[in-house]
Amino acid sequence: MLQKVLIVLFILIGPTIVHAEGPIVNTSKPYTYSELLKDVVALRETFPKSIEVDVIGETTLGREIPAIKVGNGKKHVLFIGSHHGREWLTTSLLMKMIEEYAVAYEKNETVMNLESSILNDISIWFIPMLNPDGVMIQQEGITAFPLAYQQLLLEMNQNDLDFKKWKANGIGIDLNRQYPAGWEKLKKGPTTQSYQFYKGKHPLEAKETKALVDFTYQIDPLISVSYHSSGRVLYWYYKNDLQVVNRDYRIAKRLSKLTGYKLAKPPKKATGGGFTDWFITEFKRPAFTPEISYEVNNTNPPLSVFNEEWKRNKGVGLMIANEARKIK
Ligand SMILES: [Zn+2]
Repeated sequence: MLQKVLIVLFILIGPTIVHAEGPIVNTSKPYTYSELLKDVVALRETFPKSIEVDVIGETTLGREIPAIKVGNGKKHVLFIGSHHGREWLTTSLLMKMIEEYAVAYEKNETVMNLESSILNDISIWFIPMLNPDGVMIQQEGITAFPLAYQQLLLEMNQNDLDFKKWKANGIGIDLNRQYPAGWEKLKKGPTTQSYQFYKGKHPLEAKETKALVDFTYQIDPLISVSYHSSGRVLYWYYKNDLQVVNRDYRIAKRLSKLTGYKLAKPPKKATGGGFTDWFITEFKRPAFTPEISYEVNNTNPPLSVFNEEWKRNKGVGLMIANEARKIK
């Protein structure tokens, strides 16, 4: 009898015991690709009722790119981190958001006064690290790669052994200069593979960007948010249609107020090539590019800025999900 009671008790409070073990996502050290894979599994096991995991494709060097959905809503919004190698603090931010939202959703609690129950209507898809190859190069340098590949990496990095400035993917393509929206107009930047700014021979040449575009069509998001660093700026405009520009600007203003990030002025000549440029053009729906952290010069933002950025962004996912309810 006692055994039976214990089994029933375990079934009832088992998941609570798992939660009580403390947070899964550790944001106090550089967030690596292997950490990401480990955490994705742990999150799915801990929150089976609210988290679903998918793989959108593989990088050029063969790493799987995970996507994590929080919520059970049939409609979606999409959040992306680490388009750029040196911007992995955006992965820490999104992973933390996934865990916090899953905890709140299962307990039906609010996050910064925002109801997590919105996730019953609108799910949030996260791709926390679109560019794991680039992140690994930036964090670990060439020793993490096969000897035969090291020479090419060095050449793409201007023969500099310091890889902290690495922005591109694993084969020297800048993933946020790859999307078919004004791509032809991107004139500046190197004409061959490089640690930054090389736009590729044609749009969606990089496997990572092709996978993201395919996935985006598949989930049909109502709003997209693509996190970058640095400078505490919020981009929201790329030739938005007249019928929707005011709607998008209003959301941008709210997002700017929530994060304290300065709203970027619509440029006179928008160059394009970025994910949100493409999303705005293709879907006629809002997309935002927040640049987290105070400005750092050609490197990753320091870990010390994480808590401040988390405070600013903690509510962004739920706020965007709320805004999505009004989008067609
Ligand atoms: Zn970036």
